[in-house]
Amino acid sequence: MSTDERSAGPPQASSAPLGGSAAHEVASVGALLLGCIADDFTGATDLANNLVRAGMRVVQAMGVPGQPLDTDADAVVVALKSRTLPVDEAITQSLDALRWLQAQGAQQIYFKYCSTFDSTAQGNIGPVAEALMEALADLPGADFTIATPAFPDNQRTVFKGHLFVGDVLLNESGMQNHPLTPMTDANLVRVLQAQCRRKVGLIDYKVVAQGEAAIRARIDQLRAQGVGLAIVDAISNDDLLRLGPALKGMPLVTAGSGVAIGLPANFGIAPSNTASALPAATGLQAVVSGSCSLATNRQVAAFIEAGRPALAIDALQIAAGVDVARQALAWAEPLLGQGPVLIYSTADSIAVKSVQGQLGVEEAGALVERTLAAIARGLVTLGVRQLVVAGGETSGACVQALNITQMKIGLQIDPGVPWCHAQTDAAPDGGLHLTLKSGNFGADDFFSKAFAMLA
Ligand code: ADP
Repeated sequence: MSTDERSAGPPQASSAPLGGSAAHEVASVGALLLGCIADDFTGATDLANNLVRAGMRVVQAMGVPGQPLDTDADAVVVALKSRTLPVDEAITQSLDALRWLQAQGAQQIYFKYCSTFDSTAQGNIGPVAEALMEALADLPGADFTIATPAFPDNQRTVFKGHLFVGDVLLNESGMQNHPLTPMTDANLVRVLQAQCRRKVGLIDYKVVAQGEAAIRARIDQLRAQGVGLAIVDAISNDDLLRLGPALKGMPLVTAGSGVAIGLPANFGIAPSNTASALPAATGLQAVVSGSCSLATNRQVAAFIEAGRPALAIDALQIAAGVDVARQALAWAEPLLGQGPVLIYSTADSIAVKSVQGQLGVEEAGALVERTLAAIARGLVTLGVRQLVVAGGETSGACVQALNITQMKIGLQIDPGVPWCHAQTDAAPDGGLHLTLKSGNFGADDFFSKAFAMLA
């Protein structure tokens, strides 16, 4: 689809950037349509992936960028780590992100949180949403927003305000035992009300089923009742697509990643292959895996069974002072020319517990993360330009070691996991293709599938 076709959709409710013309002047490239603030790193990629699949060209930034956006994008997702920060800090970071997105001309703001509504009794979903509403208060319609983690195709449905994870209520899904954000109540109206000063209401499935006009009428009714935020039911992905048009022109939307499937159409954007286009892939291929999740264990086993070269690294050797990173890179160098190699600390839970018992959980994690990050950087220095990283925390460490501050989001490999392209000082000749796979994502053949897709 050409640039002209991209913009040939229905007229927008408002083509004005949020924050006024002064903010718009500093934008260096075509103004942004959707400005997103995500409360964690892999959640940001999940949202970006949905937007790309719906036709938007998306850039993910790690934290609030220090300079204007220097590439054309329809949406930017600013990835924060604010989910479990103290409320004040989460608000400060989110408002910083908002100001940066406004300065790029963003026409609508999307605050993204987890599909299990992960929050503490104090927040941060409610307080951040209300702080964003206040910051946008000058704009018509900013006195009201929606909130829904629903994503039915990913087993997250909201019915009469209650969140189901698969077939069970949120508070019976295991999330009631989460170490940081235990979710003991599935009634999201009650959960969000406990975090908000404004009144919280509900747009239920019967209204959503009737589509845009009914949803808008319900929003008017809730507004008249003094409601500022409303949980929205969705029991199928079609509900999210019906919700989309009713959100056109709403300055702030708050949701999981699901609502994103219905928003690009509001800007006249339809799914297309060009949205996920990345530069042509070049260079050598490698996988670095620090995830010990069940899916990653299966993926490592599948790669080894396929006869590919793989090297396990040992946390105890790292702790003993052995230069494991140097040894691993020396092992990889002669093999890289023949196809992808895997360097992994991935192990089953018994082995991990044993190491943790000897080194401590945090120390073991930090040692392994640091070593794998040094290996990832070393591999790129050796010419790797297609890099798969497995593990959420491991990904964070690798991205940091590679000094990556933003990524362009490309084609989905498996649900929730796209290829990305990023500039890094370790690959000054045109950047790096990378994919960041969090724990339990991806099919067993994920590693080979990922490279096959780039080829
Ligand atoms: P996931 O996405 O599967 O949760 P993460 O990378 O987020 O994966 O977390 C895995 C954690 O376990 C990291 O801190 C990593 O350094 C640590 N780790 C990896 N391998 C081992 C190991 N063999 N022994 C102990 N800790 C490990």
